[in-house]
Amino acid sequence: MSDFKLADRLSTLPPYLFAAIDKAKAEVAAQGMDIISLGIGDPDLPTPNFIIEALHEAAKKPVNHQYPSYVGMLGFRQAVADWYKERFNVDLDAEKEVVSLIGSKEGIAHFPLAYINPGDIALIATPNYPVYGIATSFAGGQAEYLPLLEENDFLIDLDAVSDDMWAKAKMIFVCYPNNPTAATATKEFYERLIEKAREFNVIVVSDAAYTEIYYDSENKPLSIFECEGAKDVCIEFHSLSKTYNMTGWRVGMAVGNSDLIAGLGKIKENVDSGIFQAVQEAGIAALKQGEPYAEQFRAIYKERRDVVSAALTKIGIKHRVPDAAFYMWCHTPEGYTSSEFVTNVLKQTGVVLTPGQGFGAPGEGYFRISLTVNNDLLEEAVSRISKL
Ligand SMILES: *Cc1c(COP(=O)(O)O)cnc(C)c1O
Repeated sequence: MSDFKLADRLSTLPPYLFAAIDKAKAEVAAQGMDIISLGIGDPDLPTPNFIIEALHEAAKKPVNHQYPSYVGMLGFRQAVADWYKERFNVDLDAEKEVVSLIGSKEGIAHFPLAYINPGDIALIATPNYPVYGIATSFAGGQAEYLPLLEENDFLIDLDAVSDDMWAKAKMIFVCYPNNPTAATATKEFYERLIEKAREFNVIVVSDAAYTEIYYDSENKPLSIFECEGAKDVCIEFHSLSKTYNMTGWRVGMAVGNSDLIAGLGKIKENVDSGIFQAVQEAGIAALKQGEPYAEQFRAIYKERRDVVSAALTKIGIKHRVPDAAFYMWCHTPEGYTSSEFVTNVLKQTGVVLTPGQGFGAPGEGYFRISLTVNNDLLEEAVSRISKL
């Protein structure tokens, strides 16, 4: 029998916080209960057909059968730059300020390797997408968590971060529209963040995967590059995954400060060989012609949001009605921890929710609903919860 010990970077990872839920889910399913999963942030709607057709055509070209470049085809990077211009009025140099990613998760996970030395500190706004902390720790760095509180609209309280902490930090991770709280950033917040980061020479990592899932077209989510000075200190990760229902395709991008893009590129050059060019061609089609489809998806999520919000209000579950992202961040009823509540709901109703504390300690007292199933299932789920 072999005895292969995992490396410390894996064996010291915090315990998988959703393990209890997974176990309960398997037990409930084994009893034959019908499961409704509101746990996963993965769009249920299919990728629009024109994107699939573009892939189909591009896959036939022999030139696309060879190694792509890790930075991405210039045509793809230009389409990203054009899209940023159209959507955010942000100018990007496609050659130096854009890199393609095998999904933004890949880029986020690799980025700390380019800038974090063992012992370096990364500030992470939490509750958070777990990749920021894990990638920091894989690079040997240390994560310092900054709580996102409802009383601050889930924005970082920048005044609560000491100058000493800023001085020690190498980078700071922020995500707006936020997963899991669905909060959005204001321009003032980004401007103050950039000011601090410039003062202390801290890299700002903005995860903008959800900017296109919004419900108020008068008040669209921002790119951090809409703010003065952002190009001095920021890199922004974005993705086609959530906007065009393309999570399975693995296509995303990082944009911003050309040194930071080059630094990430140095890591990528050594670990991957880019995205299948046919997928990049499909990505170009999505970026150029996807807007009317994105509009339809937003309308669908908005309807779902309103259905769930009304149903939750009726049964007395406090929640925020989000302006963006396809999540509802809800208060756990009195008398339960978030894990207890979520486990209880699952065992008694078969409805899978995500416990807030799974995203970090300040998520305690909340649970997350993902609006990635249809209205009938959403109504059925809330109706089952109401009978508890
Ligand atoms: C889904 C998601 C991503 C990444 O998605 P990719 O498919 O890897 O592009 C990044 N950040 C957050 C917060 C997400 O929820």
